[in-house]
Amino acid sequence: MTRGFILRVAVAALAVPAGAQEAPPLGPGNLAFLDHVKNARLLAAGDLAGRNLADCSMPPVSAAPAGEPVVAPPTKVFDQLYYFGMNSVASWALVTSDGIIQIDSLDNAEEAQRIIIGGYRKLGLDPARMKYLVLTHGHDDHFGGAKYLQDAYHPRVLMSALDWDMVSKTRPRANFGPPPARDMDITDGRKLTLGATTLTFYLTPGHTPGTISFLVPVTDHGQPHLLSFWGGSALPRTLEPGGEIGRADSGLLTYRQSLERFIGIGEDAGADGYIANHPYRDQTFVDGKDDKITRNRARKPGDPSPWIGRSTYIRYMLISLECTEALTGWVQAGRPRVSQ
Ligand SMILES: [Zn+2]
Repeated sequence: MTRGFILRVAVAALAVPAGAQEAPPLGPGNLAFLDHVKNARLLAAGDLAGRNLADCSMPPVSAAPAGEPVVAPPTKVFDQLYYFGMNSVASWALVTSDGIIQIDSLDNAEEAQRIIIGGYRKLGLDPARMKYLVLTHGHDDHFGGAKYLQDAYHPRVLMSALDWDMVSKTRPRANFGPPPARDMDITDGRKLTLGATTLTFYLTPGHTPGTISFLVPVTDHGQPHLLSFWGGSALPRTLEPGGEIGRADSGLLTYRQSLERFIGIGEDAGADGYIANHPYRDQTFVDGKDDKITRNRARKPGDPSPWIGRSTYIRYMLISLECTEALTGWVQAGRPRVSQ
């Protein structure tokens, strides 16, 4: 038995802030959240453990790496999909027959210029061909470089109406760029076609009120694949004085509903791989030693792409779902102290 399966609940619940409801007594009826933690760990096995289980810590912890961000080598991941980002946050370029759809924009103008545009130039992409900039949600680590790209290269900028509203009220933080000028609204089911490529967007609130998710059609040496792109890869986890989680942006129950829906959408469409907007989630780039960019570089002819694998993709989504259930149950149980 691995250490990870030993879960104990301390007799005392966490101190409940003044004014909040007393934690209910612990008992078999409200400890079911531990089963979800266990399920997530089983699903993670060895290959998906680590940061994917951050949401299953009680209380949950941030999955983001500590310290100065490390820039990933600009990488062609599929025949038409490129990674330009760091170990903290991602941006992707989807090249179509009629221009480029850029997805997310890193933290600020300097990073967008150095990492995204620098990456384009290094890999032979023309930034003038950036026709659309899709923002997965209205957090500044995703839109911070967008105003620079909008002003310099004039792509149409898309985000959900709810997140456009949210960013208009967001206070700027040091080291993060301002929001771009409001442009196009993404609505549920909206299609974006550029050249021969069509993306369909789904509103998947939870991480923010208007987080979007979508499926990305790609080819790997000509072989078609469909990647799932979940746009808000972290549970709302802010602990409020009253014990609520996910105050600012959206909520846990909403997150779970969106996740269940998007798993179904991916299932119906036959998704067989996944990418994310934080590279420690999909392991696109972690440390330059054990991540998909590194494995891709060592790939031999005939080896499968490290980003492809239907069962791995399904496990990845189900881990999120189990952790969402676990966190919900933990809150409902009165946030007991769990030693892990
Ligand atoms: Zn976010």
